[in-house]
Amino acid sequence: MSLALQVIKLLEAEGLTGAQWLDQTPKEEAMPLEPQWINVKETQVFPEASAGGLGHPEFCARPCVYFSKGMCRNGAECEYCHLPHVSNPKLDKRQRTMVQGMPKFDLLTLVHGALQLRAQRLKKKNEEFIIEELLVLLQKEISALSLQDAVMSTSKHDLQLVTKLLSKSSISGIVANLVQLPDLYEKMEKEISYFKLRRYTGL
Ligand SMILES: [Zn+2]
Ligand SMILES: [Zn+2]
Repeated sequence: MSLALQVIKLLEAEGLTGAQWLDQTPKEEAMPLEPQWINVKETQVFPEASAGGLGHPEFCARPCVYFSKGMCRNGAECEYCHLPHVSNPKLDKRQRTMVQGMPKFDLLTLVHGALQLRAQRLKKKNEEFIIEELLVLLQKEISALSLQDAVMSTSKHDLQLVTKLLSKSSISGIVANLVQLPDLYEKMEKEISYFKLRRYTGL
């Protein structure tokens, strides 16, 4: 069972349905939503909320492709997000290929830069805190590289452009670019899962 699903089960045991957990965030923590997000008030109840939507909009799983077509059969147990998403500006094919083939140092620098920009945008203590933990993990990984591996091969122009574009994704979306570094990716995902667990259950 995924951690998100475990959280939903925990909340259900507390007498909360999956649809109610979004209400658990105190009002003053309301998301400073960016224009690209549909302005969803956290006080709203989402009968369509699913396990994958936990932490929406910054930390949820990818939007469920079946739900948008009215075809998701997993309901509240779906591992993907059922809440409204506006698609983020996407990298073009050349940029995606570039990111997928990036040397480790370049990729770490890219994700670090995008998360820092995201933190500035959010300006929200609660989320800044989790971004800081993620930045520390990235920083450690960068410091562990040998001097000869810590040389940038991506052009400055490309790196700046892609960093900016990536920073418009959700935090989970930015972190997903680390999938080609499985150990680090797993650590970051765990950090995010624990953050969600603490935030929504108070554990
Ligand atoms: Zn979502
Ligand atoms: Zn679904």
